[in-house]
Amino acid sequence: MSGPHGDEHRELREMLGSYALGHLSPAERDRVRAHLDGDPECRAELAEIAPLAARLAGVDADALDATPTPPPDLGARIMARIAEEEQRRVVPLRRAGVRRRALAAAAVAGVAAAGGVVGWAVRPVPDPPPLEPVAVEAVAPGVEARADLVPHTWGVEVKLTGTGFERGEVYRVAVTDDSGNEVPAGEFLGVGATELRCNLNSSVLRDDAVAFEVVDADGDVVVRSDF
Ligand SMILES: [Zn+2]
Repeated sequence: MSGPHGDEHRELREMLGSYALGHLSPAERDRVRAHLDGDPECRAELAEIAPLAARLAGVDADALDATPTPPPDLGARIMARIAEEEQRRVVPLRRAGVRRRALAAAAVAGVAAAGGVVGWAVRPVPDPPPLEPVAVEAVAPGVEARADLVPHTWGVEVKLTGTGFERGEVYRVAVTDDSGNEVPAGEFLGVGATELRCNLNSSVLRDDAVAFEVVDADGDVVVRSDF
């Protein structure tokens, strides 16, 4: 790209990010607008970055003050990199597309820099663990309980919810494996009528687990579940 239009196009294109964010002086704004009128390519580019700018506009300005500002030559470095990349390309037909994507990326980087946004990657939210509801029998009077199992690589977790466990009394939970071994899964204190939510972890894998029991301080079974 060369000639007076090419230079202007290149210069104004780099200003599109700031334009979208409303960071230009009135004179610069007029220049960009005049250029946009005559250049569908820049209009398309602006349409691509405008939604991003709208989101950045909602960012707390006080928070932005603390973020590092980009180096002043960032734009120039990106353009130099693009030119380098172009020269490496051997298939001329692909040039336009590559250049276009690279320029869009540069414009977006410019918007990000102008907005002071440093982190782009959105951390994927892990799926919640699968819960397996199991039938729970409350043996002791006054106790109500339900439970879900969570299979982990290290063993099965029992998510126990219930009421009526005597306040201050220590209850022990054990998971039974398919050989009949009762493997400790932890203890909890009763909280009376308040709902208790307790996660109990055992080293028995879900596939090997066949039951769990809650016993009170006397060793009497209060709650049991066969699954
Ligand atoms: Zn242009």
